[in-house]
Amino acid sequence: MTVLRAGKATDVGQVRPENQDAVLADVNLFAVADGMGGHAGGEIASATAVETLEGSLSTISTPSGLLDALRAANRIIAEKSAEDPTLAGMGTTAVVATLVGTESGDVLLVANVGDSRAYHFHSGELTQVTKDHSLAAELLREGSITEEEAAAHPQRHVITRALGTAAEIDVDFFELRLAYGDRVVLCSDGLTNEISDEEIIRVLRTVTDPTEAAEDMVRRANAHGGHDNISVVVIDALVAEPEDEAPAPAATASISPPPEAPEHEGWLARRRRLGVPRALTARVIGFAVLVIALLAGSWYFLKWYANSSYYVVSRGSQIVVYQGQPGGLLWFQPRLVEVTNTSMDQVLPIRKPILVSGVVEPSLSAANNYVANLAEEFTSTSTSPTTTTVPGAGGVTTPTLAGG
Ligand code: MG
Repeated sequence: MTVLRAGKATDVGQVRPENQDAVLADVNLFAVADGMGGHAGGEIASATAVETLEGSLSTISTPSGLLDALRAANRIIAEKSAEDPTLAGMGTTAVVATLVGTESGDVLLVANVGDSRAYHFHSGELTQVTKDHSLAAELLREGSITEEEAAAHPQRHVITRALGTAAEIDVDFFELRLAYGDRVVLCSDGLTNEISDEEIIRVLRTVTDPTEAAEDMVRRANAHGGHDNISVVVIDALVAEPEDEAPAPAATASISPPPEAPEHEGWLARRRRLGVPRALTARVIGFAVLVIALLAGSWYFLKWYANSSYYVVSRGSQIVVYQGQPGGLLWFQPRLVEVTNTSMDQVLPIRKPILVSGVVEPSLSAANNYVANLAEEFTSTSTSPTTTTVPGAGGVTTPTLAGG
């Protein structure tokens, strides 16, 4: 089931004395009509078209019902034109959309006469649905002129089909199957002659509310000069149960009200409409950040612990100082920071075994003090055998010098 929500905007523009466009955004009938002819003629023709469509609302649920309504509008405009010489030759374009149910689901039926347009915005891409019934567009379609020439063609505003100007009308029909988040734009040429497809896309991407989106496009067309009347209808497709939405948990499904079309488009819906992949959600990103923080924290702690002490050890005949834990810790290996001036020949034999395995000290200066004490102990013992100063393994010991 498809639910539509629509908004409309119309404006006289910056140049024309009156607005001869008419717009309609009913519950399920949407139209833009761009009138032409005489002072009042254009306005009456477009208003008559919209009023006739509105009056036929109950029968417009099939292509033939919509065609009948457009034929009625054509006839009524022609009659008014014949009755009043000041309205002679008046006519109007009409681009109309309505949602109809089919066996395979709902489709948006679009009908077009003239050069007002319907666009379909799906997954971030804008496609023109209707073909312009104008002289320039027809020359372009048959390959007689290029796109650039069509855009600047002196008769680009001359339309080849209209309501009210001939006994018979030729209507183009299109069927659009709308996905959740799709948008459809109906507009008069006062919009498309002023702003590019890219600018229309920018509005459709950023302005969620359909009325605000229509108003924004009108404002932009006016900013580009507003040389003609500007009319826009924006239709949003809200599907009650999108195919790729996860079903509600079973435990709450029985007490939940039936799902309703969202009043305001959510963050996720907007991402989906814009075609943003759902690979990374906030929860996944948050978990990844936490894991990385824990790993980094552990690594820094290990590194700090591994490098937090020094040890004095023999290396051949030398006594050296390493930073780190004897034997290393995981992948943090001790680092040689000092080769002392004291050799193994300058320490008492009783100290040698412990120097082979290593003596841990809390800092580099403590390690240096320990080595200095070993040398002092050796010297004082050599000169005065009665001195009994013993350097501590973990602290600074001031040797007592004999004979002082
Ligand atoms: Mg126009």
